Amino acid sequence: MVNILYDADTDIAPILTKQIAIIGYGSQGHAHALNLRDSGCHVCIGLPEQSKSRQKAEQDGWSVLLPHEAAAQADVIMLLVPDQVAGDVYQQSILPQLSAGKLLLLAHGFALHFGQIQPREDIDVAMVAPNGPGVQLRHTYSIGAGIPALWTICQDASGQAQALTHAYAHALGCTRVGIIETTLAEETETDLFAEQVVLCGGLTTLIRTAFETLVEAGYQPEVAYTCCLQEVKLISDLLYQGGIHFMHNSISDTAEYGDYVTGPRIIDEHTREQMRGTLRDIQDGTFARNWIQENLSGRPRMNALRRRDASHLIEQVGTRMRAMNTTNR
Ligand code: NAD
Ligand code: MG
Repeated sequence: MVNILYDADTDIAPILTKQIAIIGYGSQGHAHALNLRDSGCHVCIGLPEQSKSRQKAEQDGWSVLLPHEAAAQADVIMLLVPDQVAGDVYQQSILPQLSAGKLLLLAHGFALHFGQIQPREDIDVAMVAPNGPGVQLRHTYSIGAGIPALWTICQDASGQAQALTHAYAHALGCTRVGIIETTLAEETETDLFAEQVVLCGGLTTLIRTAFETLVEAGYQPEVAYTCCLQEVKLISDLLYQGGIHFMHNSISDTAEYGDYVTGPRIIDEHTREQMRGTLRDIQDGTFARNWIQENLSGRPRMNALRRRDASHLIEQVGTRMRAMNTTNR
């Protein structure tokens, strides 16, 4: 049975007497820091001297420390840096500042699950992973709502890890809508799988390939852009609101019939096999190893793919369309 906790199941009190260090002030960092501050927590921010986020943090009223200074002061350390640097930041800035009983938090399982961080045994370690980008975490909090989060306790040396982790999620606003217990493996593997297969990799490749097919057949790129990319938002809003059946009720019968007969032609048994293979690569660490290696060697593949996609016709068309104000209304 899934374990979901709400405000009434969790107590904010244990976190209110602790000093919290937020390391990193990007998408997640700024939202955690501001939500916690508004919930009455004692928060400090740790950023490297050369970090581009320093200015934003200072504008938000923080006096910014270096990561090791923030970690030294704190009882609770939330590490909100890019996953590929988390291991180095832990080793260089956090580990030397740890003492028994401190709580190390992460917002994604990658660094712990794939061994980039191998935490000291006498500290507490847990994960609170909000199910959405920082802007949404902050916005929903500020209107009295929240977004859900996944949580798990990885190490409980003090006996306080669970109470403090629940209190953190409470202060973040996530228990307003529910926090779901998971495991590091489940969070990490499902998150990577979903972003690769559906949310990012699957979706962008689907859109781009459909766009190319229409343009190659002689249709206007602007029309192809509108129907294959822009309208994704309208459909995904319906999916978010009420699921697939609800979305089907809101589209035309023609669109619904086309969905049934053509969907399985596009996403077929071959694709299902590829999904299984993708999941195996995630589970056995192949994907993580490749990504870590890619970073160690200066990201040659990532940079080449970024350049290739940035110059694709679909980007040029999108830029033109937005300038004509036909999109992003
Ligand atoms: P981000 O790239 O938006 O921000 C990273 C921050 O870390 C920046 O402020 C950057 O200046 C700082 N930073 C970079 N190198 C650093 C270093 N060596 N030392 C200290 N600070 C450094 O990253 P993000 O999207 O906020 O991701 C942070 C964590 O949150 C990741 O574990 C990610 O998986 C997780 N997460 C992200 C989202 C999301 O939607 N963005 C959602 C859930 C969880
Ligand atoms: Mg993710």
